[in-house]
Amino acid sequence: MSFFQLREGVTHCEDAPLPEIARAVGTPVFVYSANAMRAQARALRAALSGLNDPLIAFAVKANPNIAVLTVLAKEGLGADVVSGGEYLRARAAGIAPDRILFSGVGKTAAEMRAALAGGLCQFNLESFPEAELLSQIALSMGRTAPVAFRVNPDVDAGSHAKISTGAAHNKFGIPIGEARAACEALRGLGGLELKGLAVHIGSQLTRLAPLETAIARLGEAIALLRADGHEISTADLGGGLGISYDPSLPPPPSSEDYGAMVARLTRGWDVRLLFEPGRLIAGDAGVLLTEVVRIKAGVANPFVIVDAAMNDLVRPSLYDAWHEIAAVAPKGGEMVADVVGPVCESGDVFAVARRLDRVEAGDLMVIRTAGAYAATMAGTYNSRALAPEVLVDGADWAIVRPRRDTQAFLADEIVPPWLERA
Ligand SMILES: *Cc1c(COP(=O)(O)O)cnc(C)c1O
Repeated sequence: MSFFQLREGVTHCEDAPLPEIARAVGTPVFVYSANAMRAQARALRAALSGLNDPLIAFAVKANPNIAVLTVLAKEGLGADVVSGGEYLRARAAGIAPDRILFSGVGKTAAEMRAALAGGLCQFNLESFPEAELLSQIALSMGRTAPVAFRVNPDVDAGSHAKISTGAAHNKFGIPIGEARAACEALRGLGGLELKGLAVHIGSQLTRLAPLETAIARLGEAIALLRADGHEISTADLGGGLGISYDPSLPPPPSSEDYGAMVARLTRGWDVRLLFEPGRLIAGDAGVLLTEVVRIKAGVANPFVIVDAAMNDLVRPSLYDAWHEIAAVAPKGGEMVADVVGPVCESGDVFAVARRLDRVEAGDLMVIRTAGAYAATMAGTYNSRALAPEVLVDGADWAIVRPRRDTQAFLADEIVPPWLERA
């Protein structure tokens, strides 16, 4: 079920009419449905309910807004963080330390120290030098750091190259064939307790097969470690399950299909399974609400120039991503157009030769499926504002991050005293 639907000709988010939000907050603005996120979280939990106490740790990088994290914390989700900043956000949202996983290839000493002091479920280590540094830090703090090695299972995720992470040439994890040696060497380091292994092969996966391969390889590696005498208590299966962006394509596997596959592959593993979904939880729970600035004639098709741009939503320019675009209050009729933003880059394009609701200057549009890897990847290129974020919950809605415009940024910037202003 979509939480963004037409009611009496006007798109609503849950019970809130989008034009009301646009009038009050201005455009462009990200609008999130709290109940859409809850529904996804509950569906995944139900799909994994046959497992032994699974931990569902939301990948904070997908949508780090504190209000979003608070909704998910209240649903019982943990957090998968990849920086000290994300660790802080997870804690600020009330996520208990023992529900936090810390991933990422470049954790610094300061980040390790902060997470160890605050507590966490486990560090997912991505190299042996990282283990050596964490060992020194843990010993110096008189603590034991719970760790897993993230292994690179060398599978092709079948996703866009920029969001595939589990092939041998990617920077992530240690080669799965080296896991035994790495865990053996770990015995020589103090201050660390080996918990298990982790995989995450990429994002927006639209088939289960690559995940199955990765999970099967993880199971073999765990068996080898146990044969070597290691006690293995966790297996982190990562995130990556895709969502539907283009309704004309076959839908990706459901949470239910995913859960059934995981249950079948991990039967008898005797570990606590950890999951790190991001996009699956938040992606379809948000839209980018934008206004048409003007229509400009083009050679092949007209350009619909909207007030949102690549700085607000970079996925189309960065990943060639397809987002559904529709009028908020369709007036009837269609047009074929390129939908573009105002930024001075030819790549600032949301859609090419797209069949759309007929729109004109001043009309509102939604760019759908903008709840994950959207506001969080925004920048201020061309001195554009950072778009605000709004959370809707039933008939209630609130600004959960206000617009930050050039006035705000100028207040932070400094002209050094030796440069006199004219
Ligand atoms: C990004 C990331 C995730 C989440 O990926 P999704 O495709 O959003 O589910 C999970 N784990 C790690 C280590 C990541 O880097």
